[in-house]
Amino acid sequence: MLFLDDHRDIHFNLLEWLDLDAVLKGEPYQDVDREQLGMVLDEALKVSKGSVSACNEVGDRVGAKFSNGKVELPEGFAEAFEDLASGGWISATMNPEFGGMGLPEVVGTGISEYLMGANTALALKTMLTRGSAHLIETFGSDDLKATYVEKMYSGEWCGTMCLTEAGAGSDLGALTTKATKQADGSYLVTGEKIFITSGDHELTPNIIHAVLARTPDAPAGPKGLSLFVVPKFRVNANGSLGERNDVTCAGIEHKLGIHGSPTCTLVFGMDNASQGFLLGQEGQGLVYMFQMMNAARYEVGVQGLGNASAAHQAAIAFAKERLQGRAGKGIGQSPIIQHPDVRRMLLMQSSYVQAMRALVSYTAWCMDMAHVSSGDDKNRWQGLVELFTPICKAWCSDWGFRVTEWALQTYGGYGYTMDYPAEQYLRDCKIASIYEGTNGIQALDLVGRKFRMQDGRPMQDLLQLISATVQTLAGDPVLGPSAQQLGSALKTLTAVLQEVPAKPNGGQLTVLNAVPVLDMLGHVVSGHLLLQQASLALKKGEELQRARGVDPTDRAAVQALLKDSPEAAFYHNKVQATIHFAHRGLPLVAALAVALQAGEIAPIEAVF
Ligand SMILES: Cc1cc2nc3c(=O)[nH]c(=O)nc-3n(C[C@H](O)[C@H](O)[C@H](O)COP(=O)(O)OP(=O)(O)OC[C@H]3O[C@@H](n4cnc5c(N)ncnc54)[C@H](O)[C@@H]3O)c2cc1C
Repeated sequence: MLFLDDHRDIHFNLLEWLDLDAVLKGEPYQDVDREQLGMVLDEALKVSKGSVSACNEVGDRVGAKFSNGKVELPEGFAEAFEDLASGGWISATMNPEFGGMGLPEVVGTGISEYLMGANTALALKTMLTRGSAHLIETFGSDDLKATYVEKMYSGEWCGTMCLTEAGAGSDLGALTTKATKQADGSYLVTGEKIFITSGDHELTPNIIHAVLARTPDAPAGPKGLSLFVVPKFRVNANGSLGERNDVTCAGIEHKLGIHGSPTCTLVFGMDNASQGFLLGQEGQGLVYMFQMMNAARYEVGVQGLGNASAAHQAAIAFAKERLQGRAGKGIGQSPIIQHPDVRRMLLMQSSYVQAMRALVSYTAWCMDMAHVSSGDDKNRWQGLVELFTPICKAWCSDWGFRVTEWALQTYGGYGYTMDYPAEQYLRDCKIASIYEGTNGIQALDLVGRKFRMQDGRPMQDLLQLISATVQTLAGDPVLGPSAQQLGSALKTLTAVLQEVPAKPNGGQLTVLNAVPVLDMLGHVVSGHLLLQQASLALKKGEELQRARGVDPTDRAAVQALLKDSPEAAFYHNKVQATIHFAHRGLPLVAALAVALQAGEIAPIEAVF
């Protein structure tokens, strides 16, 4: 099954909408230009549509297998991973000093969306390898950096993230894996980690695990955690592979989706010989690990988008082909895309996909702005990135999953079968709301920490930006009603954020409603970004009309242009998707506010 992409909107986000020049004039990107970035995206699309997507279906149907203590990956994964490694796709945004391409995050986001949409199970390997190598680059000694980082960024070795244990999932403070210092300065790591993505396989000759563990005298809870690098094979002083380290895969999970991604139980130190190396200082492990977790949370949001977009594009293609019913009198069977309800389902998908893409692209742009600025400006951009991270993760994974469901519904019965890719996208997407911290935990992070950080300044900055969009567009003849919907949603959200904490049981209500509050903010932010995009699309569409001599009041001439020009159709559809999001998505904010404003606490009162 072919992977169908949405490259036009990805290019729009990167090359037309975001202020790319502000990023590219920063010191790290002096040698990069727009044209190159467009070409990078095209190349990433090529490899995604090629070997990466070619093994997506077999990855699902056959899946990773565990036998005789070994994990075997599905056919085609090795070749596709080799293509990703040799093309530099694992480390496109990483430090050139260690072999990365050093590209801005805004491009990295497009690359990740393609890879996640084409083959999530494979893309996860690149994400975790990049993230664990970056931990070593940032916090490791010179020796550790020299030994591991370049080999991981190049894809010669893979990496993992080892946090979860049977008794410690969301509650990382409960981790019990131990690390005891040895005479040579290394550590003996003992314990069992579960659910470790790509914890074992033979894709690469070595796998480097980033492991959270507790030293013997460490205090209980999160402050007692330290971070260790534990290789599957020990590495000799000259960089060659030495003896097998004491890390054993005890099995893999049988699960709903991402079958090509082995989810492993790893036992460290079964024979008391699992050698690990401390990153940075003891007791700082969780602080360091947040670098990887935040990057992964953002990318899991991109997974939600990538799965949703691919499912949506496939649904459009199906709806153009499938004949059923008659869309008018006296004609034969029509393609289902002509039926209003099918069109509603498709535009709903488009509007959420574009909203998610705007959100993750803007967040990536803020990361780049933080990277190229200094002082107060840097703090401001970084504050927005931190505020957006849980929203990207939770909002895009929840709504991404819903989009895959709407896409499946578009097919009718065929969507429920394995003859079409809709059901795989839905199953693969579901995990995104669970791993890297469940969406419930993301929402608690948002309301408990992110709203208050820097004395609430990032949140205030954001609300002002949204308010400015409402004011600018409220009188626009096309977008005015949508801007008014945004204004109304913003007013509701602001009222909830002010009123609820002041209620006698405000703390209880806030914790109980963290997920709905994140959902409200996700809608409002995305609605604001979509309106900005639609305003630009309107202008571009009008320019096209002028260039073609089309009178905008002549409906027939406008329709003919839309049929004839994919560019005109793209800008037109961007406006339609925004209007639909404003009238279907944004009113959810008012619905979600009802329970908060009424102070409803039935879930606490209920007896289960
Ligand atoms: C396919 C897959 C791949 C994974 N990959 C990795 C990996 O590579 N590395 C790794 O370390 N882990 C990995 N995980 C583990 C994943 O991150 C955890 O499953 C997740 O963090 C949730 O932990 P848990 O499963 O123990 O659920 P629990 O923590 O038991 O949570 C169960 C439910 O209770 C809720 N809950 C828990 N605590 C609270 C609270 N304080 N307040 C409100 N609600 C709460 C949760 O939101 C959830 O709904 C993976 C998991 C899966 C399924």
